[in-house]
Amino acid sequence: EFSFAKRTTCLRINLDTILSNIGILKAQCSNHTDVIAVIKANAYGHGSVEVARYLSRHGIHHFAVAAPSEGKVLRQAGVTDFIQVFGNANEVEIPDLLENKLVPTVATIEFLQLWAEKLRLNKENNGLISNDGSNVHTHVGSVVIKVDSGMSRNGCQPEDLVSLIKFCLGNGVHVHSIMTHFSQAWDDPDFTKIQLETFLKAASPYRKHGIKLHTANSAGIIQGFGVDLDFIRPGIAIYGQPLDNMPSTIAQYEELGLRPAMAWLARPTLIKTVGPGQVVGYDQTYKCKEEEIVATFPVGYADGYNRLLSGKGLITTIYGTPCPVIGRVSMDAITVKLHKDTACQDYYILQDDFTSANSTTQMANELKTITYEVCTSLSQRLPRLYI
Ligand code: PLP
Repeated sequence: EFSFAKRTTCLRINLDTILSNIGILKAQCSNHTDVIAVIKANAYGHGSVEVARYLSRHGIHHFAVAAPSEGKVLRQAGVTDFIQVFGNANEVEIPDLLENKLVPTVATIEFLQLWAEKLRLNKENNGLISNDGSNVHTHVGSVVIKVDSGMSRNGCQPEDLVSLIKFCLGNGVHVHSIMTHFSQAWDDPDFTKIQLETFLKAASPYRKHGIKLHTANSAGIIQGFGVDLDFIRPGIAIYGQPLDNMPSTIAQYEELGLRPAMAWLARPTLIKTVGPGQVVGYDQTYKCKEEEIVATFPVGYADGYNRLLSGKGLITTIYGTPCPVIGRVSMDAITVKLHKDTACQDYYILQDDFTSANSTTQMANELKTITYEVCTSLSQRLPRLYI
């Protein structure tokens, strides 16, 4: 059975599965296409430090996060690879970006002006930017410029790209790459095609300056958009989590061989026999009809087990028998009705497959959300066990 690290619950994460999922995604692309592994939000709950270290040891040297603080955590853990920070870079972030040798995603000339000025001052003072011999140094001061090709969220207008690039070329700011992001690559090929064309029209002329291009998130990669450019930027699919809850999506994942890398396990902290008429948990929402075996697990909404699953959630024995979550989900505990005959030591709170009642996909269905939210809600306090 399962050996727990520090608590009677933990996430079991298979790093090799993540690497294998990346291999599958890369195989959909041109030979020259490299990977920026998206490890924001603590690697979608999987643990950004461990994921980055493992991938870096296995030939992945580009990562993306969503906030400078996430990049700082990686740097402090000794990750020396290229780390891009998504989102529209803001001037308040400049000190953290530079100090941690992070590559901002830029949409405005105002940011570039401040960035160039800071780089110039640092160079003059022979200051903050030091050559520590790591490969990260080659990216210090570099930027990624983002073009908005139809999401109206992040990035510059396509027609403004020319002035941003011109500024960079004239002011010693190295442009690592130009990117855009797809809004609906999974199920709207017509719109995605327009996004890709809009982007390429604006950005292609700069390839001759050695500037790289990238567009494809997981959906784009699987549907074949932007897979011949310089990088792909997969997130959810490297963790083997389906992009949506449709059976056809799961079928496609299975066909490609993409597999979930994470399971959530737990062990009861107490098992009681509760008599007929007795109530369980906050607000008396569950009353035992007969003598029932009630187990408490150390898993609550503060761990990422959503309170909306009160009276609805299912966990399974490690042999697959479903057991209903009864009563309210508390902050730090759930109560579960066990079956006498199938009780065992360890239980899956979340299964690492697509179809079990407690797979992330089914949980997302129940919560009317997507696996992204289920995974990124998994709290920092849950121990992660890497296998
Ligand atoms: N690229 C950008 C700019 C993103 O914001 C994200 C995630 O939201 C990704 C790539 C990865 O997307 P996905 O997890 O759908 O593969």
